Amino acid sequence: MKKKQFQAESKRLLDMMINSIYTQKEIFLRELISNSSDAIDKIYYKALTDDNLVFDKDSYFIKVTADKENRTLVIRDTGIGMTKEDLESHLGIIAKSGSLAFKKENEAKDGHNIIGQFGVGFYSAFMVADVITVISKALDGEGAYKWESTGADGYTIEPYEKDAVGTEIILKIKENTEDESFDEFLDEYRLKAIIKKYSDFIRYPIKMDISGKRLKEDSDNEFEDYKEEQAVNSMVPIWRKNKSELTPEDYEKFYNEKHYGYDKPLKHIHVSADGAVVYQAILYIPESIPFDYYSKEYEKGLELYANGVLIMNKCADLIPDYFSFVKGMVDSESLSLNISREMLQHDRQLKLIAKNITSKIKSQLQSLLKDEREKYEQFYKSFGRQLKFGIYSDYGTHKDVLQDLVMFYSSKEKKLVTLDEYVTNMPEDQKYIYYASGESNERIEKLPQTELVSEKGYEILYFTDDIDEFAIKTIMKYKDKEFKSVSSGDLGIEADEAQDNTDSDKNNNQELFEHMTSLLSDKVTKVRASKRLRSHPVCFSTDGDVTIEMEKILNAMPNNPNVKADKVLEINVHHAVFESLKDAFEKDKDKLNLYTALLYNQALLIEGLPLQDPVEFTNDICKIMV
Ligand code: ADP
Ligand code: MG
Repeated sequence: MKKKQFQAESKRLLDMMINSIYTQKEIFLRELISNSSDAIDKIYYKALTDDNLVFDKDSYFIKVTADKENRTLVIRDTGIGMTKEDLESHLGIIAKSGSLAFKKENEAKDGHNIIGQFGVGFYSAFMVADVITVISKALDGEGAYKWESTGADGYTIEPYEKDAVGTEIILKIKENTEDESFDEFLDEYRLKAIIKKYSDFIRYPIKMDISGKRLKEDSDNEFEDYKEEQAVNSMVPIWRKNKSELTPEDYEKFYNEKHYGYDKPLKHIHVSADGAVVYQAILYIPESIPFDYYSKEYEKGLELYANGVLIMNKCADLIPDYFSFVKGMVDSESLSLNISREMLQHDRQLKLIAKNITSKIKSQLQSLLKDEREKYEQFYKSFGRQLKFGIYSDYGTHKDVLQDLVMFYSSKEKKLVTLDEYVTNMPEDQKYIYYASGESNERIEKLPQTELVSEKGYEILYFTDDIDEFAIKTIMKYKDKEFKSVSSGDLGIEADEAQDNTDSDKNNNQELFEHMTSLLSDKVTKVRASKRLRSHPVCFSTDGDVTIEMEKILNAMPNNPNVKADKVLEINVHHAVFESLKDAFEKDKDKLNLYTALLYNQALLIEGLPLQDPVEFTNDICKIMV
């Protein structure tokens, strides 16, 4: 028999196809099954207008059979089949899509949607097969034909015996080489997994036949056998179902089946969008934090389907970094795929979907916060840090989306509060949103710097996460209120004249403070009388923007930028210790040296900063003990 040549361009294309278009060999199965599904869909469409044709959904199926001994893999369908001409033009000319032509003639109706469009998917089978044989009988054709090809050198076509309408694709799976094994494509479990992965939502049942048990072609009872078998695929995508039909358990099951997580999702969001871009999505907010979440290894992304067929496992462009904890999938009919159907050609639709999804997630989180506070706090414990990072990153571009979702522990409420709650509860005379930074709530609670603010009855937000101060520095103002550290030089609180004569004291003690400043000149910018201290003798405050907490964090970074806070040593002039200082200043300068060093080191300890010389510190204490 004379071999027909592929058209010249086709040869080169075929080579490209086999060697470069696809990143993974396994997708050949997705392509062949998609073709089978399209072929059945075509009968379905025909039946819509042809009264002689009844589409009985149960009689249509796709069957995958692996035969390890003979190294063949067969994909069979009961679809519309191909005539001799179809075989010649659709399989003989690469990049010719019979399905695209069909789709143009028949506008998509009621959710049925032909998948094929590029006319190349079929050839991906040459990635795993040396020989491809196609036996097909068309619904409106005469007789069956066998098409066969070993790749770039062309194909043969000849009449064949086949009674039932449909197509059978027989792949002679390649022999293993030194670097590559093809055995996996003959392994039932592996094949099942590939089908589940890419073709789970093909509308027609995909059945598997165990090795060697290939059914005889065209036997009349054959269909009865199939009916007994369970389909490998789930067929109806849960996201196409009506929300009212689905229970929370259904969503949970889907979450676990898809391995989005092993926990229970805290919340699901089911979207069915019909606007500028049509898509369905099921999104999840996980309950617990994935073990690698805050590491470089963690990859964000949603599964992306086009018409129910998996295109991408983790499409990162669908969700912003600050919502990277969200799991789930998106299915859309309006994506323009690239030829390998592994990527998209334009990201316009994708951007629209991503924007849409982002606002859906935000409003869902907001309603969780409003209506299910406990759940929200649970979520926030896991992912709050990511939200705060989101505020800080990209120069604060996303702060408007996120600032109402963050919470901090409150000195008054003794629980997490939002910025909105904080501002709502502010007394009228309070100018700033106060915060204190430290290692833990317990430690912050005891910070001397909080004394004045607490005494005024103002609430203080506790910042225990290293990102906290950076995040609020990015927000700058919330509802017109600026943030202020309780350690900052100017607290913006008018001192009560009744209990404060610090200013006059300061003048009286000017010389003492100057002397102490000179003793500590390499360590602090200034020593001064404190307005904020009540019961404690000493603390640090900072002038300028960099707080001590920020200094600690910045200096712990790998590329240590060597930022220094302008530390001020504040002394409580109403504390008994101050009398000793004054006394020593007048009578005994050595003692003043000792006291100054001790007070400075105490301030360091309160701040959780390391002592430069702990031995000297203990010696100093011994000196005052004896
Ligand atoms: P596409 O699916 O993008 O059109 P393919 O290379 O996968 O491209 O297939 C080329 C064409 O071959 C299809 O458009 C269809 O007309 C035909 N075809 C492939 N497989 C089958 C099948 N199982 N049944 C009927 N027609 C098929
Ligand atoms: Mg195809």
